[in-house]
Amino acid sequence: PLEPWHIGGPVIKGFGRGSKVLGIPTANLSTERYTTLLSEHPSGVYFGWAGLSARGVYKMVMSIGWNPYFNNKEKTIEPWLLHEFDEDFYGEELLLVVVGYIRPELNFPSLESLIEKIHDDRRIAEKALELPLYSKHRNDPYLEVSN
Ligand code: ADP
Ligand code: MG
Repeated sequence: PLEPWHIGGPVIKGFGRGSKVLGIPTANLSTERYTTLLSEHPSGVYFGWAGLSARGVYKMVMSIGWNPYFNNKEKTIEPWLLHEFDEDFYGEELLLVVVGYIRPELNFPSLESLIEKIHDDRRIAEKALELPLYSKHRNDPYLEVSN
């Protein structure tokens, strides 16, 4: 297992593709403060815990990278919080504890296969985060800053 790492900041606007095209909303974070940290970790799909100020702590599965399918020019940090929210939370402080790595970033022949893979990732994250090894990080002090 990885040493957990921490990233946070206000939720920013992305390209609006997460929920609109894929049915998978991702709460984007600015990469600006994390150039070094990101260069130390490969692009790909990670999982962990997400704390949203005034709301709670949730499981999350996250893509870090260039989204080859969409051919982005900039690296993005995009956690999908595994919870149904009634409203958007742009601008709110989001804190992440990243505890595990699922796979490298891949390209996909179709949007359908990309979506399918993301749902596989979600199931892997959901299950892994139940294991004591990973579930204990729900109580990471970093997340308490928000509560
Ligand atoms: P954007 O491209 O602006 O990031 P998305 O389509 O990816 O837009 O949608 C992300 C936004 O949806 C988040 O910033 C957040 O405000 C909202 N949202 C609602 N539910 C969730 C969720 N379960 N996980 C992540 N973001 C969510
Ligand atoms: Mg997004």
